[in-house]
Amino acid sequence: MRIEIPDNVAKIINILEKAGYEAYAVGGCVRDTILGREPEDWDITTSAKPQEIKALFRRTVDTGIQHGTVTVLLGGSAYEVTTYRVDGEYEDSRHPKQVEFTASLVEDLKRRDFTINAMAYNPGFGLVDEFDGIGDLERGIIRCVGDARERFSEDALRMLRAVRFSGQLGFEIEEATFSAIKELAGNLRLISAERIHTELNKLLISPHPDYLRIAYETGITAVVLPEFDRMMATPQKNIYHNLNVGEHTLKMLSEIRADVILRWTALFHDIGKPDTMSEDADGIIHFRGHAELGSRIAHDVMKRLKFDNDTLNKVVKLVANHELRFEITPRSVRRLVNRVGDDMFLPLLEVCLADNMAKTEYAVNQYRPIIAKAREYYEEIKRSEQCTSLATLELKGRDLIDAGMKPGREIGEALDKCLELVLDNPEANTKARLLEYLGLN
Ligand code: ATP
Ligand code: MG
Repeated sequence: MRIEIPDNVAKIINILEKAGYEAYAVGGCVRDTILGREPEDWDITTSAKPQEIKALFRRTVDTGIQHGTVTVLLGGSAYEVTTYRVDGEYEDSRHPKQVEFTASLVEDLKRRDFTINAMAYNPGFGLVDEFDGIGDLERGIIRCVGDARERFSEDALRMLRAVRFSGQLGFEIEEATFSAIKELAGNLRLISAERIHTELNKLLISPHPDYLRIAYETGITAVVLPEFDRMMATPQKNIYHNLNVGEHTLKMLSEIRADVILRWTALFHDIGKPDTMSEDADGIIHFRGHAELGSRIAHDVMKRLKFDNDTLNKVVKLVANHELRFEITPRSVRRLVNRVGDDMFLPLLEVCLADNMAKTEYAVNQYRPIIAKAREYYEEIKRSEQCTSLATLELKGRDLIDAGMKPGREIGEALDKCLELVLDNPEANTKARLLEYLGLN
């Protein structure tokens, strides 16, 4: 089998071979190229030791010398070149006590997680596929290299990676691999939040974010995201919903655009429902205040998963405001823009639309026109450059000091008061009118 590899990769392999070493493109890049997907990065595995690799290339970075990895910089790109290695005994379902270099490519391939990730390619020797990765690519199957229970006991993160790859590729998890996850999912508690976050994120922005269901069925979410299990156990009974909270969330994930902010918002938007559920005399179930409570829970979960502040703040705001009111007016849209931020308003409408697309037909019919109206009003607000935040208020702190106010808290309060006025009356946004409003003219 021949596969296309970039010139730089061919060049690196060639330089290593000319110096007497073996070298292959390996892992995700081989898998993705065979699938016709664009690889994210190209990794190279070689019999050369780190110091030997460094001696052959002009620009290198010591990425993880103790694990055998040197980054080679070539033509504006970076390539990880790693010495063939076997992982020693594992501690804590996390990391090997030590790694050992080996002279054998196949030994190196054996330590890799899944058959589809354990193929290597060299232009001269072709494809090395010891574990039938090609067969599993054709069958659409995620299967461990070797004994699944052993492999997951070595590194528990691999269980979440299995689900992540199945979501990215639309693959099924092979039976023995699946049951090993069920058995060992509990070990994910030993894995750092950062590594969990990375894999969950890749799953969520994949073509099949609803494969989060597999993480639920195998007991992974019970460990890394127990809040989701509670949603799966929360029924809904009203004219808008025909699914329980968790199922509705999975459906919404498939409805919404593949974007980090939007997908995490979809995952968290109803996270406040399990704790706000009430049933009225007619058996109708309500969730009063779930958006507000949900935004606080989302905040805590995202802190736990070590999100960056920017993503966290955006998602929390979207969750808090995901319920559109029925009575939509230019004024209510200005207030909403003020609450979520100008940059987050159109994303908010995407959230609202996907949320309702995952409900009953009745809900879709109710909300479609409301969302369309909100968009129309927003466009008008932008067109006529109406003020929706302090940044575009015509009155500044400086003006208040010039008018005789002392620097301090009162200035902020006065500006907030003006903004309130302007959100209701856009035409009041002139310096003169606002000074007059404050009695300062
Ligand atoms: P992508 O980069 O598209 O997310 P990938 O397959 O390249 O997918 P990486 O995390 O970049 O995944 O890892 C590169 C390769 O290293 C994998 O293809 C696999 O062979 C091996 N690998 C990575 N993580 C593990 C792990 N936890 N256990 C065993 N092998 C692993
Ligand atoms: Mg990769």
